[in-house]
Amino acid sequence: MEHEIVMDLLPLYHDGVCSAASRAAVEVHLETCDICREALAEMDAPLPTAETQKNAADGAAVKKISEEWKKTRWKARLKGAAMAAAVCLVLVGAWLAATQLHLFPVPAEKIQLSNVRQLSDGRVLYHFYIDDDLNLRRVKFEYDEAGNKYYVPLRALITEKRWDGVTLADREMILDVAEENTWAESQGIDREVTRVWYGRGEEAVLLWEEGMDLPAASAADEAAWGYEQGSADYWAARENEPLKAGG
Ligand SMILES: [Zn+2]
Repeated sequence: MEHEIVMDLLPLYHDGVCSAASRAAVEVHLETCDICREALAEMDAPLPTAETQKNAADGAAVKKISEEWKKTRWKARLKGAAMAAAVCLVLVGAWLAATQLHLFPVPAEKIQLSNVRQLSDGRVLYHFYIDDDLNLRRVKFEYDEAGNKYYVPLRALITEKRWDGVTLADREMILDVAEENTWAESQGIDREVTRVWYGRGEEAVLLWEEGMDLPAASAADEAAWGYEQGSADYWAARENEPLKAGG
C-alpha cells in the first residue's frame, strides 16, 4: 500500500476503527516505513496539556525577554560608556580651558615695577614682580591710537603656584621702545609708542613715558646689558637679554 494512503489511514488504524484488510495492509507498510511508524508513535504521545503548552510558551517568552534584556543591557552599557566618555571629555575640556586659556588679567594692584633705570643707549631696565605666589605664563601686548602700549599679564582661571627659578612673575625686564618703533615702521605699521603701561585701562601702571627722566643704569648694568652695534658682545648680550614681555 502506498505511503500516502497509509498516512491517511493511520488515525483510523490507531483508533482501531479501520477494517481488518486495511489494518493488515498498514502493518505491512509499518514494517518498512520509519515515517509512518513515527507518526503512529506520536499519536500515542500524550497531547501537550495546556500546562505544557503554557510552559513551552512561557519558556519561549522568557527566552525572548532574556534576549531582549541582554540586548538592552548591551545598549545600556554602550550608552553608559558613551556618556562616561562624554563626561570625561567635558571634564578634560573644562580642565584645559581652566588651566590653559590665559584670559584673565592680573589685577593692577598686584603688579610691582621697581628699579626702573635707563641704559646709556636709551633702553630701560626694570624689575617686574607680581605680588602673590602664583606663576605667570603669558603677557599680552595691546596698543591704542594714542601711542600707549599695554603689557597685560594674563592668567588662566586656575594657575599653578610659582616655581623656583625662571618665571615671568618675578624677573628683570628690558624695554627697547626705539627698536619697537623702528620695527613697526619697517613693517609699515603706523604706530609710535610714547608710553608703556602694565595692566589695562584706568588701573594700568605706568612704566615709561617719552621724555621721562629716569635714573641712569649702573656701570654693572651697562657692563651686563649695554652693547655696541655689531660687536660680538652685542650679540652675546642679546642672546642673554632678559625676557621681553611678548603676546
Ligand atoms: Zn509510510
